[in-house]
Amino acid sequence: MVILPDGLHQGESRVKVVFSEEHRQHFPQAELWMGEFVTPFERPSRMEYVLRRLKQRGFNDIIAPGRLDMKPVRKLHDRGYLTFLRTAWDQWIAEGGRGEIIPTSFPMRRMQQRVPRHIDGKAGYYTLATETAITAGTWAAAQASAAVALTAQGLVAGGQAAAFALCRPPGHHAATDMYGGYCFLNNAAIAAQAFIDGGAERVAILDVDFHHGNGTQDIFYRRSDVLFCSLHGRPQDAFPYFLGYKDEVGAGEGEGFNVNYPMPPETGFDVWGRALDDACRRIRRYRPDALVVSLGVDAFKEDPISFFRLESEDFRTCGARIAGLKRPTLFVMEGGYAIEAIGLNTVNVLEGFLGG
Ligand SMILES: [Zn+2]
Repeated sequence: MVILPDGLHQGESRVKVVFSEEHRQHFPQAELWMGEFVTPFERPSRMEYVLRRLKQRGFNDIIAPGRLDMKPVRKLHDRGYLTFLRTAWDQWIAEGGRGEIIPTSFPMRRMQQRVPRHIDGKAGYYTLATETAITAGTWAAAQASAAVALTAQGLVAGGQAAAFALCRPPGHHAATDMYGGYCFLNNAAIAAQAFIDGGAERVAILDVDFHHGNGTQDIFYRRSDVLFCSLHGRPQDAFPYFLGYKDEVGAGEGEGFNVNYPMPPETGFDVWGRALDDACRRIRRYRPDALVVSLGVDAFKEDPISFFRLESEDFRTCGARIAGLKRPTLFVMEGGYAIEAIGLNTVNVLEGFLGG
């Protein structure tokens, strides 16, 4: 029998999954992509593919989240930003907005960083990218997604060796006061904060999504109680473009606790796997009380908006290496847009983790 982290034995127990159908409330019809409006790559059917594969492979322990505890959310996200998310849709409608909220103006270089009153300006202030539209149900879905993360976090804090928060919308691009990259509340960061609030001294976040976890980096940049390691497409070539360089190492108390692994187009598992090993070494040295994995599977070779070349089997190896850290582990779903493969690739990480 293979001994897994903290007493989990292969075949004896599967990873518990937390999931909410509320994600369906967020389904924008338009994403501005290379000059055209397209159906957003981040869409509800992603969840169906993951759920189907989970069930096929025996991950049948799927539970709904409890009520969202706003405490860790308020600790990490700006108050004005949360009010904006809660009220944006109503204000948009009241001011004559139609369709979906997509702002047109932004506080760029040498401009004022003050929140305007008009909803177009306000949304421009709080967004980092306009591919992410806000709809009537967006806030409800974002809250449910954070509740999924916190419920799964509670399972791990309560003694489960691992849990999988099947979150949608994703979270790792959401910064203290910015949404974008399909993200509104930073689910992984909120879960990490909940571990700290529950008594953990150190939490590591490993972000294996193809895109840089700019939001998570932003939130913990000046903190040493959360180590953040991100493997991603280099910012010269990949969204979110304006963060994710190697020389972003944290600041103040957080100096040395932010580690970026930007990689060029066509990166395959030979290079990606070495970056993962280096991140794992750093995490091991950090001795975290808990590990949060921002689990995007868009490093896959067929992902339509990414440029790495991982094979489906590589995700299994990735899961096995994460298991090697032997930490209580919370997986939080992030991206992955090769929709028909997202279930296989996600479950491969979990099965690799379980040693299967
Ligand atoms: Zn991504």
